[in-house]
Amino acid sequence: MNGSDDSGAVPRASNMCDSPDYGALPSSTAMQQLLLTVVMVTGFVCTKTLFDNIRRRQARVTVVVIGAGPIGLTAVLVAARSRRVGKIILFEEMFRKVLLNRQHQIAFDHKSIPFLKKIGVDFDNIEGCWEGDCFYTRVGIFQEYLLDVIQRIRTPKEIRLGTKFTREHTKEIEYIPGRKLVIVCDGANGQAVRTMGLSDEFVQHTCKAYAAVAAVDRPEQHNVPMPERRVHNLHFDLTAYGTDTSECDGLTGFSLKIFGSSKSRYMTLIVPKCESPLVKTLRVVLDRSMMRNIFMKCFNTYKSTSEHSLSDSFALKLMKFSPRLFEIKLSQRLETVAYFEDSDTFVVAEGDAARCYNFHTGLDVNIGIKGIMTLPNFLSMVPTAMTEHSIMKAMMYKSRQADQVCKDFVKNGLRDYMFSKH
Ligand SMILES: Cc1cc2nc3c(=O)[nH]c(=O)nc-3n(C[C@H](O)[C@H](O)[C@H](O)COP(=O)(O)OP(=O)(O)OC[C@H]3O[C@@H](n4cnc5c(N)ncnc54)[C@H](O)[C@@H]3O)c2cc1C
Repeated sequence: MNGSDDSGAVPRASNMCDSPDYGALPSSTAMQQLLLTVVMVTGFVCTKTLFDNIRRRQARVTVVVIGAGPIGLTAVLVAARSRRVGKIILFEEMFRKVLLNRQHQIAFDHKSIPFLKKIGVDFDNIEGCWEGDCFYTRVGIFQEYLLDVIQRIRTPKEIRLGTKFTREHTKEIEYIPGRKLVIVCDGANGQAVRTMGLSDEFVQHTCKAYAAVAAVDRPEQHNVPMPERRVHNLHFDLTAYGTDTSECDGLTGFSLKIFGSSKSRYMTLIVPKCESPLVKTLRVVLDRSMMRNIFMKCFNTYKSTSEHSLSDSFALKLMKFSPRLFEIKLSQRLETVAYFEDSDTFVVAEGDAARCYNFHTGLDVNIGIKGIMTLPNFLSMVPTAMTEHSIMKAMMYKSRQADQVCKDFVKNGLRDYMFSKH
């Protein structure tokens, strides 16, 4: 019994081990299949990741810049510093000589200067003046410097001066293989942004200040940069013009800036938006002699000692000025970035093409440079953006940054630059 009990027990035990293979067999096949699938999926994912990484590492973009103003040339320099850029093409409708003959000032503030130094701008080799921590030069001088630097860059490039970008060139861009980034810097009156398919809608912001400008041209003088003069809290007595300005006591007055070269002298008068009798009179009354007198007296009182005073007859003949105060406004282009899938092209507007003031002279800050400071990051996103999500992400980044430049300027710009006593 014991034996039979034992023998009965053993086979049962052995049966339990051998026979239920019917249940184990399918599960091990499933395991094998599962394993195979996992191996295949892992292999696929690894190969894809490797392939994507190689593709991403090798991804290059052709950069087309329209306009060789200070912002367009800075954009070329930014593109040349990027490992992601395979080729740069620059279109400029003016020929070199005319392009470099632009006389007005351009200002770089303490935030723009480190950025420009980082991309290779050597301020020690640019003729201009330092005033506090800002650098001022003539636009033509800055452009000439950048053009010379650009000639020496190693990235393959085509510099097409004297070539106006037209609709015909958009076809040329379409035929370039691979991804393209078109940076439109054709200035405040350019048409290329529209040609490239961006909307022409603008929104205007008030900068909460009134201003007037004047320019004195002395053709007999050489174009030597002169130190800037700056005075704050000025009030003018307009009783001779029938306005009681005694109420102005204690109110914030005008800031005056005299700048430019010995040949072209400029003056800027600026005051925070308010409705004092003085400001109201200068805004509403169109009396050219009143404004001429104000500018002439300002110049003669605050000019540098080595300069000649302005005479009545000179001012009458050769001084150009705003006949009354106007409100400073910033125009912001609403659409500054787009992506066109059929031609695999990003388009972005920069500089005055993206935002500009109704007032240029002597604002002490060039917000075009501020806009372009986000270009290096955008350039690193553009070549590798392969999915709809990453393309949107790159566009959102650029658009948000462009918006921020305007918001910051409207909020702090004039207070930080024009009214500060640096
Ligand atoms: C009178 C005046 C005084 C100023 N004073 C100051 C100042 O004191 N401080 C300061 O910071 N800024 C000042 N500015 C502003 C400053 O000059 C501009 O902000 C700056 O020039 C803008 O640069 P940009 O490259 O965007 O455009 P722009 O300098 O206008 O350059 C645009 C370029 O695009 C080219 N272009 C246009 N259309 C085409 C096309 N279809 N194809 C090819 N090329 C094209 C034009 O020929 C031009 O060279 C002043 C401007 C003026 C007019």
